[in-house]
Amino acid sequence: MTELVEAGWQPTACILCECNCGIEVRLGGLDGRRFERVRGDKAHPASKGYTCEKALRLDHYQNGPHRLTTPLRRRPDGSFEPVSWDTAITEIASRFADIRDTHGGESVFYYGGGGQGNHLGGVYSAATRAALGSVFRSNALAQEKTGEFWVNAHLLGTSVRGDFEHCELALFIGKNPWQSHGFPHARTTLKEIARDPARTMIVIDPRRTETADLADIHLRLRPGTDAWCLAALAAIMVDERLLHTEWLATHATGVDEVVARLATVPIARFAEICGVDEALLRDAARRIAAAASVAVFEDLGLQMTVHSTLSSYLEKLLWLFTANLGVTGGMYAPTSIVGLAGSAASARRSERRSPVAGAPIISGLVPCNVIAEEILTDHPARYRAMLVESANPAHSLADSERMRAALGALDLVVVIDVALTETGRLAHYVLPAPSQYEKYEASFFNFDFPDNVFHVRRPLLDALPGTLDEPEIHARLCEALGVVGEDDYAPLRAALGQGRAAFAAAFFEALGARPSLGRLAPVLLYRTLGPTLPHGACSAAALWAAVHQCAQRYPDAVERAGFGRGLEAGEALFDAIVESPSGVVFSVDDAESTWQRVATDDGRVHLAMAELLAELDELVASDGPPTDAEYPLVLSAGERRSFTANTIIRDPAWRKRDAAGTLRLAPADAVALDVADGETVRLVTRRGSAVAVAEIDDAMQPGHVSLPNGFGLDTPDGARVGVAPNELTTSAHRDRFAGTPLHKFVPARIDKL
Ligand code: SF4
Repeated sequence: MTELVEAGWQPTACILCECNCGIEVRLGGLDGRRFERVRGDKAHPASKGYTCEKALRLDHYQNGPHRLTTPLRRRPDGSFEPVSWDTAITEIASRFADIRDTHGGESVFYYGGGGQGNHLGGVYSAATRAALGSVFRSNALAQEKTGEFWVNAHLLGTSVRGDFEHCELALFIGKNPWQSHGFPHARTTLKEIARDPARTMIVIDPRRTETADLADIHLRLRPGTDAWCLAALAAIMVDERLLHTEWLATHATGVDEVVARLATVPIARFAEICGVDEALLRDAARRIAAAASVAVFEDLGLQMTVHSTLSSYLEKLLWLFTANLGVTGGMYAPTSIVGLAGSAASARRSERRSPVAGAPIISGLVPCNVIAEEILTDHPARYRAMLVESANPAHSLADSERMRAALGALDLVVVIDVALTETGRLAHYVLPAPSQYEKYEASFFNFDFPDNVFHVRRPLLDALPGTLDEPEIHARLCEALGVVGEDDYAPLRAALGQGRAAFAAAFFEALGARPSLGRLAPVLLYRTLGPTLPHGACSAAALWAAVHQCAQRYPDAVERAGFGRGLEAGEALFDAIVESPSGVVFSVDDAESTWQRVATDDGRVHLAMAELLAELDELVASDGPPTDAEYPLVLSAGERRSFTANTIIRDPAWRKRDAAGTLRLAPADAVALDVADGETVRLVTRRGSAVAVAEIDDAMQPGHVSLPNGFGLDTPDGARVGVAPNELTTSAHRDRFAGTPLHKFVPARIDKL
């Protein structure tokens, strides 16, 4: 560590959103552990020196409250006692094994595996899950993205992203990249599009966001009417014959069926329902159709409101109707080293269902909204134990009170985390991990185009004594469970003595001889290849197999990135990843390659989705989203703002502005309710109520109120800053296909105090 500290600035990455911008940190303070200064890392191949204001506050994460330095075991009275690692691992392995042997591995549920920038631990968890026979799992993607995954899997067999750097027209739906980013140097790109008269930006959002302020067209729809708005746009394309029929005839199936259904959409009435002038909708549809390239980003504003999966589908029709797949500036299927959404097959809503609620499992993930239901029952197949890693379901899942009850009903809860979280407090054991700046880490949010980047970050600081990083925890658990050990490691270590080629041969021979070792591979690699890696990068070992698979999956793109082809490419790329402190371009892609990744059975886009077209019929017959006379306002819970992040920073002092996390409301509502700016009010939903500070904001439209995300954590002195949104939400309020919660459409009212 000394050598790096003397060099002054050390490269790493910001962990506060999926962009994971490269940053450099200068350490200081009396103990040398403060993030004295933070700046963008110009050597990072994706972010190239860019950051937003959030990264500059990362000291509050690294040196925040609630850090743990010893494993904790809960006493019968609910308090915790420190125990040694040996005791913790032995007892946890034994208790999990008892539950597995009595009720089956299906009764052990796994939640989490990583956040915005810490995904390595999740890779190693696969080994522990295999050792426990655990089948069911979930994470935050099943709160937000599984509806879109399912639609993508059906239409294309692959996930897609928008090429905003090169597009002529950018369309953002329920997405405010100025605050939530989502693609490299988002603010610079937004300003470039806004400045260029030859380019167009369209924003669909109920709120006049910072991005909407830069847009050429803002379709300021009523909250919850996204599906009506998008259906109207698609129907206008049909009505005005704006479809690229030649392209569709070659590349798509089901076109006639979809066109026939959209022809039934009453455009004028849908415009009225969504509160947008029909002429403006027609202008937007025409511009999308006329643009040489269109890139689209749908995000939580769409994915957490009513009819969210249908809206995801309608969004995709807009750019597919206009031939924007696999073209520069359009939509592309990104390369990846470790895919986040599972295989296309696992993203298709299969017959596999959760054991109690019978909820569809998409991308291998049980909907977060049914987890409590799967526990709080006497059903024999209920979950009995849970392993939670780098996640905080007691705070982040809908209906926190019920989730707390569910955690309390389990026979065993084990939490692996950096700090004592709301979930950790309910656990039987808490295992402390080093912070993300005290260990090797990586993000699997690698979606860039044409150059895609992977960044294995080195630790900036020694780990706090008493902590163990996740790969070591999983290796110890697997060994204590008796599924892997020295007998497995010894031949691999011997082969490694003869070089990597001999190691690869021995590794695949071992897996061939004993297929059950396949899921334990991360631990095998960690214990054998890991200690031989330079710079102490032991935890990167599990990536070795993934990098080889990447080189095989995308041979041309990896070769263009300068790593050659075949086995040598895998080795060269892996070495480069371990040797590059600021990240590596691992693939150089072209737009046409997207067609190689379209994984439908005939290689064409399958445009018709029967279930969603049936839901569209319901929309045609409806009068708009539901209303509730007792709760006349629509609450958007979890707005991204300048100083919001997920719950990873537990120190409320990190926020330079909006310390209380205000409740934003429109001036007209403030007048009607007689609420003054800064006044403390009570926000009430059918599930609960919370006290919040009102902020009158003319960017809000009447009837719409919003709360930020990431607030409502318990501080060490027992106080709570801001509203914990999930004290107000219910898990029953969810999308019918994906089960994702409708956090952007929570009926609410404001009471004066
Ligand atoms: S855009 Fe901001 S929050 Fe996101 S990774 Fe970069 S610096 Fe961090």
